[in-house]
Amino acid sequence: MTRQRQLIYNIIRAAPEHRTAEEIYDLARSEMPSLARGTVYRNLGVLVRDGRIRKLEMADAPARYDRERRPHPHLVCEKCGRVTDLIMPEGLLDPLTAGLAVTGYDLKLYHVCPACRG
Ligand SMILES: [Zn+2]
Ligand SMILES: [Zn+2]
Repeated sequence: MTRQRQLIYNIIRAAPEHRTAEEIYDLARSEMPSLARGTVYRNLGVLVRDGRIRKLEMADAPARYDRERRPHPHLVCEKCGRVTDLIMPEGLLDPLTAGLAVTGYDLKLYHVCPACRG
């Protein structure tokens, strides 16, 4: 892995935040000021393709990147766009998916986060 890619991967792996490419770019540049925006975007694509991180497509907002690769539901703040993991008990979907060959899911619940509620 190149130094640039390792840096980007480390930023995502180090925290549970679901950051946008721009946020990752800002953090990466504080460590490697010469880093170009295109390099960050390109390396994020490679990391997703290699299955090291997950890309979370958002409606009407930039995609976010997730260090947790197993499928899990998300909470999305309607005001600030912050994305957090929603802990779902193991097996909760089983009664709904019995007999289906489910290969994955993308579940988002929208709310107003505690910070935005004031
Ligand atoms: Zn919020
Ligand atoms: Zn997540």
